[in-house]
Amino acid sequence: MYRVARPIALFFAAFALLVSGAQAFAADCTAKLSAPDADGRQLGHFTYPDTPKSVLVKAPEQLAPGGRCYVRKEMLPDLKRLLEAADKDPAIKGKIRAISCHRSIAVQKMLFCGRIGHDGASGVHERAWASAPPGHSEHATGYAIDFGTTEPGGCGHAVGCFGATKVGKWLYANATKYGFEMSFPAGNKQGVEWEPWHWRWVGSSIDEPGAESARRLFAKARAQFPANPAVGDAAATPSSDVDAPPPTVKS
Ligand SMILES: [Zn+2]
Repeated sequence: MYRVARPIALFFAAFALLVSGAQAFAADCTAKLSAPDADGRQLGHFTYPDTPKSVLVKAPEQLAPGGRCYVRKEMLPDLKRLLEAADKDPAIKGKIRAISCHRSIAVQKMLFCGRIGHDGASGVHERAWASAPPGHSEHATGYAIDFGTTEPGGCGHAVGCFGATKVGKWLYANATKYGFEMSFPAGNKQGVEWEPWHWRWVGSSIDEPGAESARRLFAKARAQFPANPAVGDAAATPSSDVDAPPPTVKS
């Protein structure tokens, strides 16, 4: 009995120690963040407020089947039009998914802190290359979506190969028509990795309900580090770079 019980007790003690250690680190990793830059950015990321649940709505079921994808309600008409257009292309019909939509600051804290020590991110600076610190993610606004695809081929979620998938290429060529722009294009000077899956909504036209407030929220980011492809400021015309082929896949 002793021979069995002791290793089991040791295992649980070690497990409890690991869990409590990870929780303690996750709880205070943001304390290691440096002071904001002169322009208010934290490790390259702009500041964004949390969004009240009252202005969020569930995204269409086909985008996140059975899942929990909530977005700003003003985004919904454009999002539906985007999905309708995508469904007219046999190559990607029914294949677009949302991997992540609105994320509260509390969830962002878990994501940001919880992956430190993984994927080569040994500290907050390395982590900020691939993830925004809590209070600095576009996902907190409810205007950002991480898209994914059901295409076979081994491209996981939120990795560079998404840019080379059929859905990734379709978004690159068409998303701006529906008010979405790529926040972190290849080679951006913001110090954030290329994220071909991450698109923020700013409205296909400035006259669209909600577009003005979305653009105000992203004004600093759009002025200093333009999206590409980007939504034009005047109307729903895609930028001239839209027809360019997606950048080479890096991972
Ligand atoms: Zn994202």
